[in-house]
Amino acid sequence: MQFKNGRYTVSGVDLISLTEEFGAPLYVYDANKMKDQYDRIHRAFSGVERLRINYACKALTNLNVLRLFRQLGSGLDTVSMQEVDLGLMAGFDPHDILFTPNCVGLDEVNEAVTKGVRINIDNISILEQFGDQHRGVPVCIRLNPHIMAGGNSKISVGHIDSKFGISIHQVPHVLKVVNALDLKVEGLHMHTGSDILDAQVFLQAVEILLRAATDFPDLDYLDFGSGFKVPYKEGGIATDIEDLGQQLSERFNAFCKDYGRELELMFEPGKFLVSEAGTFLVRTNVVKTTPATVFAGVDSGLNHFIRPMFYDAYHHITNISNPKGKPRIYTVVGYICETDTFGINRQLSEVREGDILAMANAGAYCYMMASNYNSRYRPAEVMVLDGKVHLIRRRETMEDLLNTQVEIPELVESVQA
Ligand SMILES: *Cc1c(COP(=O)(O)O)cnc(C)c1O
Repeated sequence: MQFKNGRYTVSGVDLISLTEEFGAPLYVYDANKMKDQYDRIHRAFSGVERLRINYACKALTNLNVLRLFRQLGSGLDTVSMQEVDLGLMAGFDPHDILFTPNCVGLDEVNEAVTKGVRINIDNISILEQFGDQHRGVPVCIRLNPHIMAGGNSKISVGHIDSKFGISIHQVPHVLKVVNALDLKVEGLHMHTGSDILDAQVFLQAVEILLRAATDFPDLDYLDFGSGFKVPYKEGGIATDIEDLGQQLSERFNAFCKDYGRELELMFEPGKFLVSEAGTFLVRTNVVKTTPATVFAGVDSGLNHFIRPMFYDAYHHITNISNPKGKPRIYTVVGYICETDTFGINRQLSEVREGDILAMANAGAYCYMMASNYNSRYRPAEVMVLDGKVHLIRRRETMEDLLNTQVEIPELVESVQA
């Protein structure tokens, strides 16, 4: 979102006018910003011969977003068969899709094999069954280096109590399985969780994976996952991707020399690619003064945007309807019958009923976590692509709410009687 000539815009498109055209609440995505982030990570690792970015699409799976990343040359990281199917629908080559599920049954893994996508396995039980059924099918193994890189316990997945990956201490066991079943291990993977605050800690995890890699002679790629942090506040901490890129590239190239083969370096960012590209627009229904607080009550809630309540995530809020207004302190809350606070004690330009508030960093894990709680409709999504506005998902209707319900005839009749 930019502020120019008294107006808030996304790639030159006025945000208030979007709410007039498509209503509120509304998700707006800036395709330019997604592209910029993709280019940025590519540049940061340009010192590596073979680089692949797999967009971790659980952050935002709208087909148009998937197609945009495919056009940019990205691959896809998926965590469910549904994401695999969406990726195939969006035109990704199966070989460019990595299936990285956690605690799924063998049937789902088998289905992924049938579809020809790359498989990443994160427990020894499935690895044994996979190897038994799919002799010769190459596989990637997800290891857990037990490095604590993440900030929030819900999104940090590398620690000792984590359910993700095969413990690095179990590599000797993994090797027995690999040898006994003659498995072709083409990749090793780690994902230490979101929010890399310290590049050095991340590089420590990389070192652990590299050490493990020397035990696997048939590797084609090493996937270092993601966790690249983007700023959520002005001046907030972010992963210095350029610095990390330089340090990691150097180390990776040196490793490949020792290993004797030019391996592919893979990453699978979600948040880094799409978070900042998203803006969530809501309309203020009520300004309510209580003895202790001034509330701005908006036409949305945890049903559309749960990160502030679920993760205590900070999302910057701006009153885009009244840029010249006097700054005042507000607590911005939703309309759900449950406490759903978007932001406490925020300084906003004076908020009047009807004003549009914009929440930043709404691209990743925002629409995707939306629900129909309180039986409300999920909002529409709009993408600004090359200066043009496209509706990429319409707002839901009562028909959508009823779509999956099956009525019991006896009950229908008893109401009519
Ligand atoms: C969610 C996820 C990612 C993306 O994480 P971000 O913090 O959004 O970049 C990458 N890899 C795996 C396996 C994931 O589950």
